Parts: sequence; C-alpha cells; structure tokens
Amino acid sequence: AAKDGGRNRFSHFTPALQEAAQTRMRLATDLRSALAEAQFRVHYQPIVDMATGEVHKAEALVRWQHPQRGLVSPGLFVPIAEASGVIVELGDWVFRQAVQQVAAWRVSHDPRFQISVNKSPVQFRSAAGTAQAWARHLADQGLPGECVVVEITEGLLLEADSHVFEQLAHLKQAGMPVSLDDFGTGYSSLSYLQKFDIDFLKIDQVFVRGLSATSKNIALCKAIIGMAHELGMKVVAEGVETEEQRQLLQAAGCDYGQGYLFARPMDGESLSRWLAETEGVCPAK
Ligand code: C2E
Ligand code: MG
Ligand code: MG
Ligand code: MG
Repeated sequence: AAKDGGRNRFSHFTPALQEAAQTRMRLATDLRSALAEAQFRVHYQPIVDMATGEVHKAEALVRWQHPQRGLVSPGLFVPIAEASGVIVELGDWVFRQAVQQVAAWRVSHDPRFQISVNKSPVQFRSAAGTAQAWARHLADQGLPGECVVVEITEGLLLEADSHVFEQLAHLKQAGMPVSLDDFGTGYSSLSYLQKFDIDFLKIDQVFVRGLSATSKNIALCKAIIGMAHELGMKVVAEGVETEEQRQLLQAAGCDYGQGYLFARPMDGESLSRWLAETEGVCPAK
C-alpha cells in the first residue's frame, strides 16, 4: 500500500507502523507457546577481569529460535514478553539454565565462577520467581547465593516501592550480588545509589563506543569508575570492541570488561570449549 502512496506522508508511515504493531501482536501470541515448545536457548558471554585477563564470570542472554522467523533478538521480544507477563516464566527458565551451567563451570573451570542473569522490573513485581524462590533453588542445588549475580536496571530503582526494596534485600541476604545494568543511559538522578546496596555497575555501551583518549566519553567513564569505587562497587564495561577501548578502560581502573573484543555470546558448550582452550585467561589481554 505504501508503494502507490509515494511521497504522501500519511500513507507512507501508517502501513509501516501497522505492520510493526501486527508483528508485535503475532510475536506475543507465539511467545506463549515458545517455552512449551522449547524454542529458547541461553547463550553466555564471558566477562573478563581487566587486570589479569582471567574469566570467572559470564552473562546469560536469552535467544529465541522462532520456527518461521529464525533467530529473534531479545531487544525485540523481551519488551513483548514483559508486556504480556511471559517474562516471569521465561526469566525463571533462564535462571534455572544459568544455575545448572554455573554449577558445571564451578567444577570444571573455576570455583569462583558467577553467572549474571537479567531480571526485569516485571519479574520483581510478580508473585512468582521471587528472590526467595531463587535463593531456595540455589540452596536445593547445594550452591551458594554468590553463584548468580542479578542484573537490574536503573528504572527498577527509580520506581522502587517497599516490595522491590524487600526483594533486593532478600537477594542480598541470600548472598546474591546485584549488578546495575546499562548505567548512565536512562536517568540523571543518582540518589538511588545511596539507598541500595549494589555490587557491580555496568557502564553502558554508548559510553564505551567511540571511546578514545581525546573523547568526552573517556572523561565520563573515568568519572563513573571513580564514583563507583568510592561507593564500594566494581565496574563492568559493556560493549568493548577494540583494543584501544580495552586499554583506555584498563588505564581508567575499570575492573571488568565484556564485549566482542573478548568473545561474543555463545552456547554453553562453546563457552566450555573456549574456556578450556584459553585456560581461563582471555587471549585478547
Ligand atoms: P544487556 O543485558 O545490556 O546485554 C548486553 C547486550 O549487549 C547483549 O545483547 C549482548 O549480546 C550485547 N553485546 C555484548 N558485547 C557487545 C559488543 O561488543 N558490541 C555490541 N554492539 N553489543 C554487544 P542481546 O543479547 O541482544 O540482549 C539485549 C538485551 O535483552 C539485554 O541487554 C537485556 O536487556 C535483554 N535480555 C537478554 N536476555 C535476557 C533475559 O534472560 N531476561 C531479561 N529480562 N532480559 C534479557
Ligand atoms: Mg545485562
Ligand atoms: Mg547491559
Ligand atoms: Mg544494554
């Protein structure tokens, strides 16, 4: 329909928006059956100790192998899963996969191994998949809480009510560290950093991208790292793609790096092989 509309503004934009809305609706329907039909996978991306190159952390990232559409990006389907509530069950499944994987890597690779799992605000507000349930699952597996780092967003902290507060406290009581994801993108208020006990701060990719010795981003990264350290947090830089970025971040005192320079997210088996081949010290160091 947009074809014959030509430069007409109205017919140009409406069909595209309509199509996007229809795609989202179809994906929402498909998401409901995707778990039962085992269409999800969990990939893991190593998180590298900047000072030593050692790898004893990874982030769990969900993947959807759609029967018709192929691989659908979590950037597209996670918001839909959040809107429909499916994220609660899906997030629990990712958590359980991650627990199984971290248990294996603690034995085969490094007893310190930790896996980060993203937990959406929708999950925090749900009666299922609570901090207590996650703590119980870890205890049932004979694993310490520190095995799983919970990645949260600034948005959660800004809207935090007493329930969210309680949930975060439960995570900490169970020994599960909390990591603040995508830091610096959403909000200018920093007051929430005083109110919550956060272990890791993840500098968002937008600050790491375009990082150079002369850019303003290096000043921002240094300021973020300095502030985080003063507050007792460790810093993870996301989206490290070049050797120059790695060197600048390391010189700035950044504790950990994650990005394509070191490795892309990959399935558990591939990361097991990668860990064995590199003997747990990142070759891009
Ligand atoms: P995130 O938690 O900030 O995850 C980091 C994203 O950056 C991942 O995208 C990762 O593949 C990508 N990335 C890592 N290194 C590089 C790099 O060097 N360059 C570039 N350009 N990108 C890099 P991914 O896997 O597509 O996930 C996107 C987002 O989807 C995640 O962002 C997270 O917010 C959400 N997500 C993924 N898995 C889950 C999950 O299990 N539960 C929830 N609630 N959200 C998830
Ligand atoms: Mg994350
Ligand atoms: Mg992130
Ligand atoms: Mg991100």
